[in-house]
Formats: sequence, structure tokens, C-alpha cells
Amino acid sequence: MAKRISKSQFMMGLQCLKRLWLYNCRKDLLPPVDPGTQRLFDEGHAVDELSRGYYKGGRLVAFDHRQLQHALKHTAWLMENGAKLIYEGAFAAGGALIRCDMLKKNADSGWDLIEVKSSTDVREEHLPDAALQRYVLEEAGIKIKKVWLMHINREFVKQGAVDPKKFFRKKDITAETSAIMPAVKEDLGRFIEALCETGEPEISIGRHCSAPYECGFRAHCWKNVPEYSIYDIPRLSWEKKNTLKAMGIMNFRDVPETFDLNDAQKLYLRTEKSGRPVIDRAALSEFLESLKYPLYHLDFETLMPAIPLYDGSRPYQQIPFQASLHIQDAPGAEPRHLEYLGDPGGDPRPGLIAFLIKSIGPGGSLLAYNAAFEAARLKELAGDFPALKGALAGFAERMLDLMNPFQRQAYVDPQFRGRYSIKVILPALVPGMSYKGLAIGNGGAAQLAYCNMVYGKLNPAEAEQTRRDLKVYCGQDTMAMVKILEKLYAEAEPR
Ligand code: SF4
Repeated sequence: MAKRISKSQFMMGLQCLKRLWLYNCRKDLLPPVDPGTQRLFDEGHAVDELSRGYYKGGRLVAFDHRQLQHALKHTAWLMENGAKLIYEGAFAAGGALIRCDMLKKNADSGWDLIEVKSSTDVREEHLPDAALQRYVLEEAGIKIKKVWLMHINREFVKQGAVDPKKFFRKKDITAETSAIMPAVKEDLGRFIEALCETGEPEISIGRHCSAPYECGFRAHCWKNVPEYSIYDIPRLSWEKKNTLKAMGIMNFRDVPETFDLNDAQKLYLRTEKSGRPVIDRAALSEFLESLKYPLYHLDFETLMPAIPLYDGSRPYQQIPFQASLHIQDAPGAEPRHLEYLGDPGGDPRPGLIAFLIKSIGPGGSLLAYNAAFEAARLKELAGDFPALKGALAGFAERMLDLMNPFQRQAYVDPQFRGRYSIKVILPALVPGMSYKGLAIGNGGAAQLAYCNMVYGKLNPAEAEQTRRDLKVYCGQDTMAMVKILEKLYAEAEPR
């Protein structure tokens, strides 16, 4: 039987022909879908379902990807029997097989194709996706009048039940899809031909491995790349990476000192070659002198649902549901720990604000790692809860960033490998303390764990354990800051 390309395979082919080939011939190389990615898929499905409230009363083709023949037959039957609005219709023609989010009949018997995306705008990669659907529909003899991209309205603010007419926006992309239809036909032919080849296409690794989508075959294609390679050099252009590769240089430490690097990259190279840290002790002292005690080490955990959960919130708004505070009255003093974790049954923000106001005194600095994130959340809380604006705005103004000395290269250690996230800095500066082995070990996992409680996916014992794990993780973040600060005091220029 002739090869037929699905919409997702078509998009893979546009990104990298090898990805398409591997997906068809070596699916065994793909890692299992991780829970975070699965949550994104689930959220995408929830957005699709909500979009059906924009145009109500359609007929759903419910057969999934394992029952494509049934889906095709059901769709054909609906088309023949006067359906005017079809959700998830399946069509095969011109060498491709597609599912359409919505197909809506016009008064003049033409059809509108409506593609739903969970993004808050139209992106370049959405156009070939919609154009392929249009191509298949037209090849199947269906007259398409308009092509619409329906995306989330970033200005939407939830008040009560989410109204799909206000939650979504539509953009007419008929002209844009017309412009690329010839290319779609050509690409489709090229992809079908590639799938008939018996060997893996020879395509080098590059920028396309993560753009526009992260490729699942990295472990396979990148297996010969050294652990600390030229691809890890921060902000090095792909052009320069390719030049180094052409010179036969893959290890970062083998990059010649004469190579065109910026000052920060040269510093990373110097520490890598020497194996010793470079510390600007005066800059560290200056940073430490800017801290005012009592010092509040602060960290938030957030969730950012596409469909807002709480009144007054927007799509993808970062909602803080947890906070940890380690408080030190003087440099080196034993810290006190306070924490807040929301009740997943309701909006966690009022409780979190009350916790902050009760726990943070009138003086002293608030220290966070990547403080712009915490400061932005405080400002959003002030905007969303105007009665408490004064207190929250004051907190934001008192914030300082523990990432600052690392970001500004006042402290560069070869173990950082040009990065400065707390997950990298901590084990390098505080041996024996890391995030490895924690049940929840990063912000994404924390978000997923809290969402599982919000959506009632855990039994009471699991929920209780998850609450404990979340507290351990968030507490670790602020305790890590205490320990990193201790190290900075030890390394700073004595004053
Ligand atoms: S990892 Fe890169 S080269 Fe390999 S299949 Fe994916 S995109 Fe292509």
C-alpha cells in the first residue's frame, strides 16, 4: 500500500527529514512520553474540547488514531448525510491523512476549515499545518472557502464559567495558506519518497533539533557528542558552532583561545582549561553589602494553566501556589523556616498573600534566585488583589537576586559549564547538597504534582505524600540559597 503521511509526520518532515524517517522506521528509539509532556497533551485536548463551544452543535468523529478506518468512514457518512459542522473529521487524499479540528459548512455549500491551537497567537509553523489540511480536503473534492486559525485570547480574564466566544480569537489565514499550497504538495511528495528509502537519511545535528519543536531522537543522533561540548557554549551562534565542528572540534576544552568568543565565553573557556574557578572577590563583597537583614530567602512554585482555573486570572498566567521562606537575622545566623502550600480545592493566591504579609517584617531584603520571576509574581498579585497592593508592591521593591553574582561572572566555576541555574550552582558550591533523589526535583515536576491534586488525579494517601514532597522541594530551594550565600561570604574580599 502507498505510504500516507499524517499531519504530525508532515510537520516532522519539515523540521528534519531524518526525524520523519526515524519516526516511521525506528520508533523504538523514542523515549517514553514523560508526565510533563503528557500534561501538555492533555491540556491541548481540553482546549480542543472547549473550542467546540465556540461553534456548537457539531458532529464529533470520536474514533481515535488507532481506529482511523472507522474515523474515515464515519466522516464520509457525515458528509454524505448533510452534516454542517464536523469536529475531528478524518480525510485521506493526495498521499496524506488528516484530522480537522472543525469543518463548518457555509451557505453557498463551501466549507470553512478551523484549526485550533493552544498558543496565544498565530505562529509561522501553524501555516503549513493548516495548509496541509486544506490541500488534503481540496484533493478530496471539498471546496474550502476560508481557513481560520483559532487561538487563545491572551487578554481573556476568567469570571465564572469560561465563555469560548471570549476565550478564543480567530484569524483568517486563507491567503497565507494559498501562498504555500504548491510547496505543501512538493514537500509531501519528497517526504513520501524519503519513507521509501531503506536507510536513515544523512542529516547532521543542528539548530533544527530543537526548533520549532524539541526532537525526541536526540539521544540517538547526539550520542557521539561529548558531555561538555561546543553545543553547550552559552549564546554561541550556530554559525560558529558549525565552524568549530568543521575544524574537528567537539569538546569545549579543545576550542582554541584565539577563536572568536565574547568575553563571557572566553572566561568559561579559561576556567574549563585551568579546572579552577575565577572569582571577583570585590564584586562579591559589593553584592553582599547590598543585602539588608533580616534576610528573607523566598521561593515560589507556580502553575500556568492554558484554561484559567481561578476568577480574575488569565490564560497561562503564572499562579503561585506555594512559597518557602528561610529567614536569617544576621549573616551566618541559623535560619528559621516558614512555608505555605495552597489548598488544591480553591484559589491558592489569597492564602499565599496572607502568609507573605504575616511572615515578612517591615525591614530587610527579600532574596530570590532569578528574582525577576518572584518580583513579577508579586506585582501580578498586587494587580489582581488591589486591596493588598501596597504591601505586595513593597515586597517587590525589596527584592534582590542571588543569581546576580553568577550571571555577572563574579563567580565562575568550571563545574557550572557556562550555566547559572540554582540546580547547577548548588552541587558545585555545596557538595553533598543537590536535587538528585528528590521525589520532586524541579519546577515542572512541582507544577505537575500540584495539577494532579487540583484535577483530583490522586487518592488521599498519594495527595498527602505529594504535599510532603512539594514541601521538601520548595524548602530545598530556599535552604540552597542559604548555603550558597554562606559560600559567597566565605569567598568574598574581607572588608
Ligand atoms: S535529533 Fe536532530 S538530526 Fe536527529 S532526527 Fe531529530 S532533528 Fe533530525
